[in-house]
Amino acid sequence: MSADVVIAGGGPNGLMLACELRLAGVRPVVLERLPARTTENRANGLVGQVVRMLDRRGLYERLSGDPEPPRPAPHFMFGALPLDLTALDDNPLYTLPVPQLRIEEVLERRAAELGVEIRRGHEVVGLSQDDASVTVEISGPAGAYRLRARYLVGADGGHSVTRKLSGIGFPGVTRDDTVSRTAHVTVPAELVDPGTGGLDVPGYGVVPPFTHHRTERGLFAYAPFPARPALVTTLEWEPSVEQAPMTLDELRGSVRRVLGVDLPLDPPAGTGPHLMRRLAGGNTRLADRYREGRVLLAGDAAHVHSAIGGPGLNLGLQDTVNLGWKLAAEIHGWGPPGLLDSYESERRPVAQRVVMHTQAQAALIAPGAEVTALRELFAELLGNGDAVRRVADLMAGGDIRYAMGPGDTHPLTGRWAPDLALDRPSGPVRLAELTRGARPLLLDLTDDASLAKELPGWADRVDAVAARPRRPAAGTTADSGTTADVGSGRPAHRSPAALLLRPDCYVAWATDSARPGSGEREALRAALARWFGAAA
Ligand SMILES: Cc1cc2nc3c(=O)[nH]c(=O)nc-3n(C[C@H](O)[C@H](O)[C@H](O)COP(=O)(O)OP(=O)(O)OC[C@H]3O[C@@H](n4cnc5c(N)ncnc54)[C@H](O)[C@@H]3O)c2cc1C
Repeated sequence: MSADVVIAGGGPNGLMLACELRLAGVRPVVLERLPARTTENRANGLVGQVVRMLDRRGLYERLSGDPEPPRPAPHFMFGALPLDLTALDDNPLYTLPVPQLRIEEVLERRAAELGVEIRRGHEVVGLSQDDASVTVEISGPAGAYRLRARYLVGADGGHSVTRKLSGIGFPGVTRDDTVSRTAHVTVPAELVDPGTGGLDVPGYGVVPPFTHHRTERGLFAYAPFPARPALVTTLEWEPSVEQAPMTLDELRGSVRRVLGVDLPLDPPAGTGPHLMRRLAGGNTRLADRYREGRVLLAGDAAHVHSAIGGPGLNLGLQDTVNLGWKLAAEIHGWGPPGLLDSYESERRPVAQRVVMHTQAQAALIAPGAEVTALRELFAELLGNGDAVRRVADLMAGGDIRYAMGPGDTHPLTGRWAPDLALDRPSGPVRLAELTRGARPLLLDLTDDASLAKELPGWADRVDAVAARPRRPAAGTTADSGTTADVGSGRPAHRSPAALLLRPDCYVAWATDSARPGSGEREALRAALARWFGAAA
């Protein structure tokens, strides 16, 4: 074997997977066809549970520059309708307005720190596999060559060659009746509305910042990110006819059609690179399976959808956090049967939810009187706190409860672990600070901290940490939402006495008993075996 895992694609998801594999003790090789990182930005931020997941890998502070833990967003939007999240007692929706270029830079630096080998200018052009290995054909700067690996992961984007070469279908829909235009611009200072920071457009009125603003003719957005040129975006329902590169005049014309008035737009100040992008049409597609033998897919290679609401990296980066430790378990030889297949059974339903809500949002922003009526009704429904909660859970991407096996009766099992505040002899600590090594974790908050006794057979794979809950009531809501059978409601508010966490921070076993009896200890050992293999 020349490598345990080859990752095709050094975009955000390929890089994140490489970091997860290194943390789990595996040496991946990342093949990236571009000789240098792209300068064209796509995402403008992260939305959902991934913000806190990055905190649990120590990456939140690097991205935000903020040493404080992430805080939930008071406001967001769904289908260009405002979502007021201030009334939610355990608001699950977190956002991090960082450009994708910066996310990729931070992930690449982290990968380098962890010793990941990244080969730039190396393109995957072919593959074949047998029972024991996959052979990857590569076109590199010095010519063609092959790598033989235990596994290949295609993180090579929506047009994934890996997916196509392995015969995985990508069913869905392609639409060609929309055009979006986005550019960095300068707007006259006198048009900035002092109350909202949005735009006071002459003849039209105030358009708040950082929201999608729908009119009967299209969508308009103004995003004055700090320390970056402002972005103006439009979306119109028309087949694209332009072939030449987009111009500022084209954007001005689009704004005029959408808002019905002229908005003075000037080129951005500074040297750039500045964005000037026209995107015609779009795809909503989901891989019909995430695995073909020794080939797996992650990120956009497995799913593409509208970027509305920014769910792409929430979905993709958490795919990689789910996959990394499972793949490592297979390579280390302790992965129990079915572990690797649980990647698809857990993550594909999450992607289906994203496909559903981005299509629903696309329907809500379309032109037409019927859509306007639908929006009125939807806005009425969003006056109800339960409905806001449900939409917030959906967008946070944590409203799926993974099946954890026969003993998963505790309300926290199968859910993403709440961020508990703890006390240890060394001082106060958040759960998020205990998960940075991406190892399975038994968090023992019981009276006598005796659960570690159950671990000897797994001590090489699972860490045990004894602590006391610092704020038992405040930190223990299961903030990752409702169960997969949507509508069954949120779990009861509980204070766990112990949690077994998988490296992706999902709860494999939990108890509320301060003195767990033999039945609970047996259930713990069963969960350890189910997820982390037989005792040594
Ligand atoms: C306009 C726009 C706005 C968006 N806004 C947001 C947002 O606000 N928030 C959000 O979360 N998401 C957003 N997204 C989605 C987000 O950009 C994607 O989900 C994300 O880029 C997917 O990352 P990835 O690593 O899976 O794929 P990519 O970023 O596409 O990376 C794939 C990498 O693989 C490389 N590659 C391709 N083929 C090969 C090959 N054969 N061999 C080797 N390397 C190969 C490519 O060069 C590329 O570097 C947006 C997308 C678009 C288009």
